Amino acid sequence: MNNTSTDLHIIAQKVLEVLSDYVSNSQTGEGKVLQQMPAGELAATLQLEKWIHGGGLNEDNVLDFLTSYLENTQHMHHPHYIGHQVATPHVASGIADFIHGVINNPMAIYEMGPAAAVIEKTVVNWMLQKAGWFSGSSITDFSYHQENGSGILTHGGSQANMTAMLAARAAAAPDAWDEGVPPDLVVLGSEVAHYSMARAISMIGLGTQALWPVRTTAHEVLLPDDLYQQYHSAVSQGKTIMAVVANACATSTGLYDPIDEMSQLCQEHGLWLHIDGAHGASALITDEHRHRLKGIKGARSMIWDAHKMLRTSALCAAVLFRDGDDLAKTFQQKGSYIFHDKEQPGFDLMPYAIECTKAGIGTKLFWVLAAEGEESLGQYVSGRYDATKRFHDLINAQPDFECPYEPESNILCFRYTADQADDDTQLRLRNQLVINGDFYITSAEVSGVRYLRLSVMNELTDEEHIVKLLDRVRELA
Ligand SMILES: *Cc1c(COP(=O)(O)O)cnc(C)c1O
Repeated sequence: MNNTSTDLHIIAQKVLEVLSDYVSNSQTGEGKVLQQMPAGELAATLQLEKWIHGGGLNEDNVLDFLTSYLENTQHMHHPHYIGHQVATPHVASGIADFIHGVINNPMAIYEMGPAAAVIEKTVVNWMLQKAGWFSGSSITDFSYHQENGSGILTHGGSQANMTAMLAARAAAAPDAWDEGVPPDLVVLGSEVAHYSMARAISMIGLGTQALWPVRTTAHEVLLPDDLYQQYHSAVSQGKTIMAVVANACATSTGLYDPIDEMSQLCQEHGLWLHIDGAHGASALITDEHRHRLKGIKGARSMIWDAHKMLRTSALCAAVLFRDGDDLAKTFQQKGSYIFHDKEQPGFDLMPYAIECTKAGIGTKLFWVLAAEGEESLGQYVSGRYDATKRFHDLINAQPDFECPYEPESNILCFRYTADQADDDTQLRLRNQLVINGDFYITSAEVSGVRYLRLSVMNELTDEEHIVKLLDRVRELA
């Protein structure tokens, strides 16, 4: 393969044909979702050493390689993929990935990709508008308004959470950037906050002990009474509360924290409320489910992964701020080779991002929106939420299965209950399902009890597939 546009054309056409077959075959629901070979055997099958040392991949052999590569993938388009909270990607997002890969415009400096930079700002404004944090005249209004929201796309929600915590730190301890972190900062968050929260808090210098866990119900919903108690004990110990963190929604159960009540407490006491909406903020684009985020008005920051429920491939995440000044104050450092004042028609995003080189990831969300329109994307989200409620009813109606709670999103825990099946049995069933490869689901421990767990991401997953899944679980049991 030479590096010419003719090669691009020939290879891309071949790759495209195989990829479209891959998608359509996966969508039929026949064949395995996942086949796992031991790592060493897989490396040999893919002939990795030969290719790396010798080169020679070209239009004649590319399909051999690609075919065996694709056989060893997780088939996200298969309706039996009901596993992690990762999007079954919209093909439009794949096209955006391809275009980026060919042109490579890391657009955190405007000059390095004006079109992708403008698209990022516009999709961020669209997200802010859905959050109710946008006061511009239209989503392509890029001018500064007081009390207007702001945000940035990041390579993942974990980095988005860290950016939000840095912003909260800049507000609580503005000197920390230069002088280090004062010892009295604490963060109050759900005891089942996503692990990226504890990491973020440690990485920004507070130490994980600064994360004070707030108790939750047996199904992982934060208890406001305990939040009050933690608040009072932090105040009485002379602590500075840097942030309060709400889950929207909890990772294992998919249930939302009582954001409205948390928001009231935070407003009364002038506290920074951060919403971890990596998965569940997408409810904001639906009419039926946006009430789950009631109280968002009183939050000061939120993260939102497009690569979970907005159908983009990994990665495309946003960190949003109700008041754009909070983002402006997050990174206080100057790097003269980039941050010099220059005459230019656009904006540099680099001063507001952890990344230096940053991909034009906003194009993925843009392409999905441009293909579907926002209403249809909203219907996708509510469609998956509603389907999960139906699956709950179906599973609960079986004598040998139970669901511990009514789902509020597209995440659902359930248990096989025949013959007093214990926690180990649930784990064994999950492992056997995955080894078998006909279905891909996960499992979760909630308040010490082991469950089988579904994330209903795929549009094609319906009752018929759930019935088959239950039958397969029975067979394996
Ligand atoms: C997925 C998730 C994250 C982490 O986001 P990544 O994009 O995987 O880094 C954080 N919080 C919650 C609640 C999540 O569901």
